[in-house]
Amino acid sequence: MDIKKQPFGKIESGLAVDLFTLNNDNGLEVKISNYGGIVVSVMTPDWNGEFGDIVLGFDTLEEYVRQNPYFGCIVGRCANRIAQGKFRLNGVEYKLAQNNGQNHLHGGIRGFDKVVWTAEAVTGEGEVGLKLTYLSRDGEEGYPGNLSVEVVYTFTQQNELKIDYAATTDQVTIVNLSNHSYFNLAEAGDVLGHEIMINADRFTPVDETLIPTGELRAVKGTPLDFTRSTSIGARIGQPDTQLQLAGGYDHNWVLNNPDGSLSLAARVKEPTSGRVLEVHTTQPGVQFYTGNFLDELVGKGGQVYRKRSGFCLETQHFPDSPNQPDFPSVVLNPGDRYAQTTVFKFAVDR
Ligand code: BGC
Repeated sequence: MDIKKQPFGKIESGLAVDLFTLNNDNGLEVKISNYGGIVVSVMTPDWNGEFGDIVLGFDTLEEYVRQNPYFGCIVGRCANRIAQGKFRLNGVEYKLAQNNGQNHLHGGIRGFDKVVWTAEAVTGEGEVGLKLTYLSRDGEEGYPGNLSVEVVYTFTQQNELKIDYAATTDQVTIVNLSNHSYFNLAEAGDVLGHEIMINADRFTPVDETLIPTGELRAVKGTPLDFTRSTSIGARIGQPDTQLQLAGGYDHNWVLNNPDGSLSLAARVKEPTSGRVLEVHTTQPGVQFYTGNFLDELVGKGGQVYRKRSGFCLETQHFPDSPNQPDFPSVVLNPGDRYAQTTVFKFAVDR
């Protein structure tokens, strides 16, 4: 196993950015940049042993800087939406950027997806890793407190990409970190034929601005029921209010994992290649998003990405948690440590 570093370019401020290549002994390869902590490529074999890249992205840093719809990146300080870009903590109201209509999305105008992280290669027994650190200053994007963030990507001989997130603060604040990789296990085309199981009996229904209503609703009897593996396209066009509001799947599922242990959140299989992606997490929720807002975007090797060209499984705390007293809390106090783990496991199944 090894990890190599090469230059990926410079951002406007002149700051140099690197691209790290992590290999395991099975020939799988993951490329990660310290710009936004972006997973740039993931090469895995299909059932014939042919390797292909299963994540959406771009060939150059310049394109990621100019037009990235969150391909591959770390999202924070708070992933997903916060209604009206406002929340209260201990009686104080904080205002965040409203960068998605009236709402705040994925940490704001310059979230963790657009900053240059300090990178360090770390190696262990049967694994290679990349430790990324970033100090988010008090007031950055409107969030209170200096937040010291550490994200470690580890690639293993078991073909797993593990992401360990950690953070500490010097003032009470809110934190919700995720990774926003878009997968397409067939390497191209749409993802409607992919079969997905989501280990969740409930989801958080949304309003027309995709803010949760606060209800935890049973998936049973709805097109959001993926408790049994079903193709993404089987019910996506149904006249269901929740699907229509989001233009497809773009919801948070409440994972069946009450104790927050590392457990299976979702399993996706692409029948023509035999590729399988398993997602394990300690987080309480997962946003399953079917690329509804992708629109004729030219990406890697000239591929054109459209609606449904990829899907995301963003493990997270529920959207708008700071304003929803009944949702699991995203508040981080000084002296406490935020810690979450998500594992993407790559496999084949004929
Ligand atoms: C959100 C989508 C949003 C997308 C941006 C997803 O996490 O749920 O609504 O458009 O990120 O790429």
